[in-house]
Amino acid sequence: MPEWPDLSVVRRRLESALGGRRILRAAELRPLVLRLPVAGPLHRLVAGRVLAGVDLRGKFLGLTLDDGAQLVANPMLTGVFSLAPRRDASIRLELEGDLTLDYADAKRMGKVYYVPPGVSRDAAVPGYAGQGPNADLAGMDAAEFARRGRSRRCEVRNLLLDHAFVAGIGNAYADEILWAAHLHPKRPVRDLGPAEWEGLHAAVRDVLAEAEHLVEAELPPELGTKVRSHMRIRGRAGQPCPRCGARIVRRHLGYLETDFCPRCQPDPSDLFPVPEPGRGW
Ligand SMILES: [Zn+2]
Repeated sequence: MPEWPDLSVVRRRLESALGGRRILRAAELRPLVLRLPVAGPLHRLVAGRVLAGVDLRGKFLGLTLDDGAQLVANPMLTGVFSLAPRRDASIRLELEGDLTLDYADAKRMGKVYYVPPGVSRDAAVPGYAGQGPNADLAGMDAAEFARRGRSRRCEVRNLLLDHAFVAGIGNAYADEILWAAHLHPKRPVRDLGPAEWEGLHAAVRDVLAEAEHLVEAELPPELGTKVRSHMRIRGRAGQPCPRCGARIVRRHLGYLETDFCPRCQPDPSDLFPVPEPGRGW
């Protein structure tokens, strides 16, 4: 799933490649991804418009056109943007300068919403309203972060995944952030001390900012992929922890899974049941 660092880099690339350019043609190449609340087709609605800006809010990437209309994408698990034409594109915009923006989504789980001029995203895009601050925590200090989090009754990993608390973090970066903060994923939020809140706030900012640099360096010019090679803990179960050398473990949390270091992120109250024999944990 694309998360804040992935989408932040894509946002910058799209803005710099396409910002200020006119859309010449638009096509819906595969059904079920585009959501049009007004009579289409997409081409009639957007052709001739200039792409005025690209923004990121949580996991929603927004394109604003010069007539005030917006295209807002929620890529969910499988949606990808590409500046090179793709055979599996669901939506294609062709812009002046011989440029193409494709949105492809093999599983068609993500959605792209056309928001007409004068209509708010909160009203038109499911899940948009009610998002907490963006995951980069711009302008939010540790005290405010802790004040908002402390009232929740949940585990710390679920707090990071709650978009009403902070918008743009998914499973991969939640694991990276908790490792950086030395916090076990199942620690109850109400048990975190002041130093732990400060550490978590710093970890969110530092892990995501560092990841943006790494993703920027590795993402190919045509986009269309997800960079995960820099992950220290996520996807590394069975390998040594890069900080202490203990073996990284993977545990299941309902239908999700989490990777963490049992030594750096100790489990103060034995929150996980004894591993099933033979599962290699
Ligand atoms: Zn460790």
